[in-house]
Amino acid sequence: TAKRKPLIAGNWKLHNNHLEAIALVQKMAFALNDADFDAAEVVVLPPFTALRSVQTLVDGDKLSIGYGAQDISEHEKGAYTGEISGAMLAKLGCSYVLAGHSERREYHREDDAVVNAKVKAAFANDITPILCLGEGLEVRKAGQHVEHSLTQLEGALKGVTDEQAQRLVIAYEPVWAIGTGEVATPEDAQEVCAALRVRLGELYSPETSRATRILYGGSVKSDNVAAILGKSDVDGALVGGASLKAEEFVKLARFRE
Ligand code: PEP
Repeated sequence: TAKRKPLIAGNWKLHNNHLEAIALVQKMAFALNDADFDAAEVVVLPPFTALRSVQTLVDGDKLSIGYGAQDISEHEKGAYTGEISGAMLAKLGCSYVLAGHSERREYHREDDAVVNAKVKAAFANDITPILCLGEGLEVRKAGQHVEHSLTQLEGALKGVTDEQAQRLVIAYEPVWAIGTGEVATPEDAQEVCAALRVRLGELYSPETSRATRILYGGSVKSDNVAAILGKSDVDGALVGGASLKAEEFVKLARFRE
């Protein structure tokens, strides 16, 4: 079976206007070479307002760097002020979109039903959802982190077909490790990623279980990425803070060295 290609995705959050985005993507693209893109898929997730500029840059210079959005509306169109649809993102060439990031769940009250609708909206527009899930500190302390993550997985995948699930990306992000500098151990990451993969096999098929890429996210940096990605069920990283500096993100994308 073909090995899953590692994915390194940079979640820029609320950083970088479109001009800053162009400068940052150019720096990254200049530093990365063909061997890097053979070894791993490298993706940035800028704010909506920078997507058109990033598209123009990537298309114009035929860059190998991929891009996507941080959120997607669960609705196709209509009276939903402020929302951005999957069709709009597809038109901007987005390959990926985050769904269910812990900051959306916390500050925008997105529950599993909303996340499920967003995952489906992404698939309907041929955009790969990066489904984010993971437990908070209380749940971790209670030893319920695996169950919690599996429940979020099942909630987010209701009605998603096997064919779709094979294109899905999952990001296990323990909330206590996001933006805190508190990184999970490689064993912590492996434990939950492995459990998610087993559940995918039960919900879908052995092929889906083998094909789906499962990332770890939470204070990943160039000096801890190799150990975490060395685990057999961890197929990449979703990176926040460390994705905002070109040099650091490029180092991270070269995690094998
Ligand atoms: C994230 O927001 O997905 C994330 C992992 O952030 P950080 O790397 O800053 O912890």
